[in-house]
Amino acid sequence: MAARIPRLLRTLLGPALAAAVLAPTPAAANPKVDAVVEFGAALAPEQMVRAFDEARLPNLRTSDLEPPAVTGDAELDEHIRDLGEARGYVRRPEPSGALTSADGRLLQPSAAAAWEQLQAAAAATGHSIDITSGYRSAASQRTIWLDRMFGTSDEALDFLMQMVAVPGYSKHHTGYAIDLRSGAATLYAFQDTAAYAWLSENNFANALSYGWLPSYPVGAENIGPSPEPWEFVYVGLDNILCIDFDPKADPNRPFCDTVGSTFADDIAWLQRTGITTGCDAIRFCTNDTATRAEAATFLWRLFGMVEPDPAFELTFNDIADGQYFTDPVRWMVDNGFTTGTTPTTFSPFDTLTRAQFVTFLWRAAGRPNPMSPLEFDDVDPEHYASTAIAWAKFVGITNGTSLSEFSPDASTTRGQIAAFLHRFVDLVPR
Ligand SMILES: [Zn+2]
Repeated sequence: MAARIPRLLRTLLGPALAAAVLAPTPAAANPKVDAVVEFGAALAPEQMVRAFDEARLPNLRTSDLEPPAVTGDAELDEHIRDLGEARGYVRRPEPSGALTSADGRLLQPSAAAAWEQLQAAAAATGHSIDITSGYRSAASQRTIWLDRMFGTSDEALDFLMQMVAVPGYSKHHTGYAIDLRSGAATLYAFQDTAAYAWLSENNFANALSYGWLPSYPVGAENIGPSPEPWEFVYVGLDNILCIDFDPKADPNRPFCDTVGSTFADDIAWLQRTGITTGCDAIRFCTNDTATRAEAATFLWRLFGMVEPDPAFELTFNDIADGQYFTDPVRWMVDNGFTTGTTPTTFSPFDTLTRAQFVTFLWRAAGRPNPMSPLEFDDVDPEHYASTAIAWAKFVGITNGTSLSEFSPDASTTRGQIAAFLHRFVDLVPR
């Protein structure tokens, strides 16, 4: 450290004081934020736009995307949509669940939380930013559209589309888009404010740090409306790191969404062994809660994808033939690794609890004696998983969620499963 302090300053102040003067303001160490800022420095406007189109975002309706009426004239509406799509407008889904109020506007819960952080960071550096528009339904977009539509010629429609999204095609429908202003300035003047300068410096590093991107950045073409410097969209840090991700570029990072994760090495191992191919082509979905079906499938693959005995009949009525988890569940039952949630159900789509997964592992290991007493205060000795949990602690598969707690009923994330399995293979000969 001392070598990095300029000599003059060191001479003037002495090494300790010079180090204190030069120390950066203490920011929360977050390797994922650092990675986003570094990666984001080279992002082109088109990549920022694509980040939202390709983001994996929760709480959106993925089916029933029949576009809403615009004028009510079916033929004209179809023509309007065609013109809009030719300009780069993309059909946007509406939320599938509850929204949260932030700054008096409705937003997706994750976006609302990230907005509060971004707004606070701006305030801490002396900049005031407010939301002037958040979630907007396709119905209210239709009202805006009809208010401003002054003609139905292609020229008139295209002129309107420079400023107003086709109903059903606004990013505001998703609850992940916000329009901003600073102080008394209107949103059209936002680009000229000090707040915008702060937000956009170093290729939008301050916005990116909190998972926000410019929605229609200056310089991007064929994006729907003309550039709108006041609109930002929330995608979160992982989706930013997934832009144009090449899973083959780094064998230690086969998925884009593991940066900064405690489980990054475990997940890379899981991919190398062929136990996972991810939740899509580039993501592992590290923080998603796992289902019981996924747990059975991971374990079955770890044990070499053994074909279950064809004579063996499942008594569960919720495991249909031909699902990805049908053979894994049959194999688990046949080997005594699960008895289901009831005699007739496995509950494949239920969230997997930590106690359930450790029990699967313990049974798969041959139900060994723990050799040490239960060390967690939140696990009753009478709990069905108490022996399995004591064993898992003793052999080092888990350290618990704190020194005295295991959190047996907490859900298990896909990242945690990767870690449990990675530690498990070191113990059990297969
Ligand atoms: Zn907007």
